[in-house]
Amino acid sequence: MVVQKKICLIGEFSVGKTSLVSQFVDSIFSEKYHTTVGVKIDKKQCSIGGSQVNLVIWDLAGESPLKTLKPSQILGASGFLLAADGTRPDTVDLAIALQQKVIQILGPVPFIFALNKADLVAEWSPSMEEITERLTQRGWDVRITSAKTGQGVEKMFLDLAQRMIETSGDGNAGH
Ligand code: GDP
Ligand code: MG
Repeated sequence: MVVQKKICLIGEFSVGKTSLVSQFVDSIFSEKYHTTVGVKIDKKQCSIGGSQVNLVIWDLAGESPLKTLKPSQILGASGFLLAADGTRPDTVDLAIALQQKVIQILGPVPFIFALNKADLVAEWSPSMEEITERLTQRGWDVRITSAKTGQGVEKMFLDLAQRMIETSGDGNAGH
């Protein structure tokens, strides 16, 4: 049996949402910026704890997602990745605000915070430690990722999928 699960990528314009998905699904990275129009949907089948899971990844476009996020696009998601760009601290604030909005729509589904562009960590201000500390204080699962080098990307998606399966009770862990 293949379980199908929807994941949404949430975050400000240009933080690397599309790049994280390309790195995970196709193992590729492009320096060029391709504006995502509307919604891009990718699928990837993964083996998680012995079960086959078909991840349906919704990469949402939008320049000011706090205003433009449509409930109809995220409904049905079993989890989400909240992405921010470590070189742009305002994207962390926006991600925090978006998390509240998404949780209001989806309820308390699992999510992971992707602090992206780790390959540019020398430019991060506040520092990686300071940003991470701020987010982990909320009890959030924070990952340092680079869609460019692939750092942390695959594990983040798979860990999220694992948590989604545990939460929904579809998994066969322990049985
Ligand atoms: P989106 O608007 O959130 O989908 O962002 P994109 O995935 O389109 O990425 C925006 C820009 O940032 C593009 O030029 C990417 O090449 C670049 N980018 C994305 N992730 C990374 C990363 O981890 N490191 C670096 N150096 N650049 C990145
Ligand atoms: Mg995009």
